[in-house]
Amino acid sequence: MVSYKELGLVNSRDIFKKAFEGKYAIPAFNFNNMEQMQAIIQACVEKKSPVILQVSSGARKYANQTLLRYMAQGAVEYAKELGYNIPVVLHLDHGDTFELCKSCIEMGFSSVMIDGSHHPYEKNIELTRQVVEYAHKYDVTVEGELGVLAGIEDEVVAEHHTYTEPDQVEDFLSKTGVDSLAISIGTSHGANKFKPEQCTRNAEGILVPPPLRFDILEEIEKRIPGFPIVLHGASSVPQDLVAIINKYGGALKDAIGIPEEQLRKAASSAVCKINIDSDGRLAMTAAVREIFATQPAEFDPRKYLGPARESLKKLYMHKVENVLGSAGKA
Ligand SMILES: [Zn+2]
Repeated sequence: MVSYKELGLVNSRDIFKKAFEGKYAIPAFNFNNMEQMQAIIQACVEKKSPVILQVSSGARKYANQTLLRYMAQGAVEYAKELGYNIPVVLHLDHGDTFELCKSCIEMGFSSVMIDGSHHPYEKNIELTRQVVEYAHKYDVTVEGELGVLAGIEDEVVAEHHTYTEPDQVEDFLSKTGVDSLAISIGTSHGANKFKPEQCTRNAEGILVPPPLRFDILEEIEKRIPGFPIVLHGASSVPQDLVAIINKYGGALKDAIGIPEEQLRKAASSAVCKINIDSDGRLAMTAAVREIFATQPAEFDPRKYLGPARESLKKLYMHKVENVLGSAGKA
C-alpha cells in the first residue's frame, strides 16, 4: 500500500471548496505519457493553477500502473523544481469496478471516479457506496456519476445522452457519501460531440451547437447547495487544430465541441472540475502531422514530440486562464 500523501499528492476536497467559493473550476487533464505530463505541469506551474492529473483505465493499461505512480510523484517534484508547489491530484477517470478503484488507491491515487451511471440506479448506489467506504478510510476522495453522456472515450461508449435527473441527486449523495458528482447536461465524450444537423449556423457560417442544459444544472444546484459538480466531455474541439490535422493528411469529419463561453459560464457555477482530453489529443496530432508533412526527412522523435508538447502547453495555459479561471489560484 502506497499512500498518496507520501507521494506529495493531495485529494480534491480543499481545492474543490476553494473553486466553489472562488467561482472557477479545476482543470482535469488526461495523461498517459511523459510529454503530456510535462506540458500539464509546465502550463499549470506557469499559470499557478491547481491541477488534476487524470488517468483512464485505458491509459493505465497503456502506460503501466507502476510507471504512472512514479510519474505522478515525479510531477510533484518537477513542479517544485520549476519554482511553484501547485496542488496535484492523481485521479482515476471512469473506474468501472470496485477492484479497479481499490487497486488505484493502493497504488497512490488521491482521488477516484466510480462510474456506475450505466447501471440501474440502485446498483449505481450500491457500487458507489462500496468504493466510498473503502476510499474514505485512506482519505481518498470519490467522484460518482448520475446521468449518461453520449459519445466515445476509451472504453466508455454511449449512443445518447441521459440527462441527470435533479430529483435523484440528494438521495444519491446521502446514500453514497460521494465527494463530487459528475452530471450530464449536454457535454459528451470524443471530438464529434454533435452532428451538423443538430447545429445552427451563425452570421459567419460557423456551426453553433445546441447550448448546454443550464436549467438542469440550476435545478441540481438548488437541491445540493455548495456541492462540487463535475463536467466530463468538455473539450471545445478548436477548429484551427482540426483544420491543421485535415490539411496535413488527417480525416476528421464533423468534429464539433462545446463553445468555450459555455464552459466559462459553467466554471463560475457549482462546477468545480472540468475534464478536457480530446482537445489535447487534437493539439498533439496537429503538431505531429504538420512536422511529418513539412519535414519528411525528420526522424528524431524529439523533433516532433517536442513541438507537440509545446502546442499542448499553449492549449492548457489558454484553458486555465480563459476557460476555467483557475490561473493564480494555486
Ligand atoms: Zn468522462
